[in-house]
Amino acid sequence: MSSIIKILPEHVANQIAAGEVVNRPSSAVKELLENAVDAKATEISLYIEDAGKTLIRVIDNGCGMSAEDAQTAFLPHSTSKISAADDLLHISTMGFRGEALASIAAVTQIELRTRHKSDELGTQLEIDGGNIKNIKQIAAPCGTNISVKNIYFNTPARRKFLSSDEVEYRHIEDVFTKVALANPEINFSLYKNSTRVLHLPDGTQHSRIIQVFGNAFQQRLVRVSENLSDVSIDGYICKPDYTKLRSKQYLFVNRRSVKHPGLNYAIESAFAGLIPEKNHPVYCIFIEVDPSTIDVNIHPAKTEIRFNNERLIYSTLHAVVKHAIGINQLSPSLDFDTFQIPLAPRSGNNYSAGNFGNSNHNGGNSNSFSKVSDEFREAYMKSIKEIQKAEEDILQNDIESLQGELPLSEPDTSIIVDSSVFQIAGSYIAAPFSSGLLIIDQQAASERVLFDEFCKKNTQNQSSTKSPAKTLLFPQSIELSASQTETLKEIQPTLELLGWDFSWLGGNTFMINAMPEQGNEKDVQKIIEDIIDLYIQKQMNGGDEMSSAQKIAAAAAKRTSIKHGEKLHKEEMYSLISRLLASSNPHTSPSGQKTLRLLSPEDISELL
Ligand code: ADP
Ligand code: MG
Repeated sequence: MSSIIKILPEHVANQIAAGEVVNRPSSAVKELLENAVDAKATEISLYIEDAGKTLIRVIDNGCGMSAEDAQTAFLPHSTSKISAADDLLHISTMGFRGEALASIAAVTQIELRTRHKSDELGTQLEIDGGNIKNIKQIAAPCGTNISVKNIYFNTPARRKFLSSDEVEYRHIEDVFTKVALANPEINFSLYKNSTRVLHLPDGTQHSRIIQVFGNAFQQRLVRVSENLSDVSIDGYICKPDYTKLRSKQYLFVNRRSVKHPGLNYAIESAFAGLIPEKNHPVYCIFIEVDPSTIDVNIHPAKTEIRFNNERLIYSTLHAVVKHAIGINQLSPSLDFDTFQIPLAPRSGNNYSAGNFGNSNHNGGNSNSFSKVSDEFREAYMKSIKEIQKAEEDILQNDIESLQGELPLSEPDTSIIVDSSVFQIAGSYIAAPFSSGLLIIDQQAASERVLFDEFCKKNTQNQSSTKSPAKTLLFPQSIELSASQTETLKEIQPTLELLGWDFSWLGGNTFMINAMPEQGNEKDVQKIIEDIIDLYIQKQMNGGDEMSSAQKIAAAAAKRTSIKHGEKLHKEEMYSLISRLLASSNPHTSPSGQKTLRLLSPEDISELL
């Protein structure tokens, strides 16, 4: 038999490699921004058109490239940053794998203009799917101007997998924010379809965080800072009375944004007992360590990292955050920018190892998921869907029998409430029915009910006038970040249908005149911020099965729902149950959590 194994042609190999580095427009953005940072630019502008699907352009005033380097840069494994394996131990640049430009070029059309600072003339280069089409000398400013067009133009199958513009743009904004936070001494601008939407002048770490998070954070931030011989930590946390549903957590190691569940836990656990359940602290923390004590070469996107001395980092981080919180609580009026925090614990003894002690635990497996074949994944997803469907059918039968026992037309709280409805642990509602005991998660149920009601309002009110639900006694002004301002303007029409009434006063300020009945008016700034964050989170994680209006409704419902721990009157419980059973999908919340369970007498006997 003749041989069947062949070496793939280079352009095919590059397209395959490109899949690892460039899995959506935002990954190309990340690589291009990092190249500009590595080129020591002091000014970086990012231009995005159609969420990066037609154009990503990065202009920097960094060192630029010579005519020869400009061509070599697009070859696989071409880098100026390392030359030997040993250099991997001392990486101080963002890039080093020498595969970004080659990978991006393999799946896009590129136009490059660059001039090295020591050359008089610059170079213009056009590359199409990895092949150089045109090269000439041009007059150009020192630095690099790279335009990446029509991503996946030659791999239509991949292009089909791109999400909506909204979703892809959110990812780009996320990448831009991280690079901007890590490099406050660089002047950044972001242009979206030719309009400048963000301008971040160079400044201090503190000023950069305020530019990105918004002015309201002036009062919320507390500095964390510690310098030891092996690790130094610097950054800011938000006071425990300001928490989020996770979206504002930034961790950097040697200025690289990283995901590290262990270190995240070190920070979160320092807040234990101080913040409500399911809430998360807000932080932006920078860790600096000797590059030879970490491994960043674990993942193609370099967002994962391994430390030689994870225990030390973990315990220092935990201690420094705990201290900052403690000092803040004792004397909240101290100026944390100038006050030196005396840190006591300097050893790792108080660290409970848990899962994080052995950093090599999962070593080498981080890529295994991407190796699972598509067919397997599809079959797996299909079987999960079938199981879910079967479960839902069973539940649906239960609900139909329950609906028979409750008057469902309009939630009517004047109905004599069956006194046997009661609350468990301030979070669940139990209601005996003839077919069994119904247990409801009050938070998930309330989210479902509000979501349905918001969606209904949304469709009913499309043509009629808006009706504010609760006019504020004193209109309140709120101050947001630039990107939140953009988002709030975008979702304003839908929020108005849900009972909000507000106007933009220019800059990042809005005046709130009315809000829906749910929610406390003194929290209005936080409620708006949370709705924006939740909406963005929905866009980034939720895929495209919900419409924009539904995502806004889901965000608003989640933010204003009844929470665990809230004491309810019997009328409120009764009303919640009847509205839930009458809702479009009584078994799950719009975020996919289970809302109820009916325990049949058989279930109960099994429990005993
Ligand atoms: P890496 O960043 O890992 O070295 P890349 O493929 O991203 O690999 O880039 C290859 C090389 O091209 C870099 O090492 C650098 O020398 C050069 N380069 C890329 N972008 C720029 C830029 N904006 N300014 C100057 N040089 C650049
Ligand atoms: Mg690079």
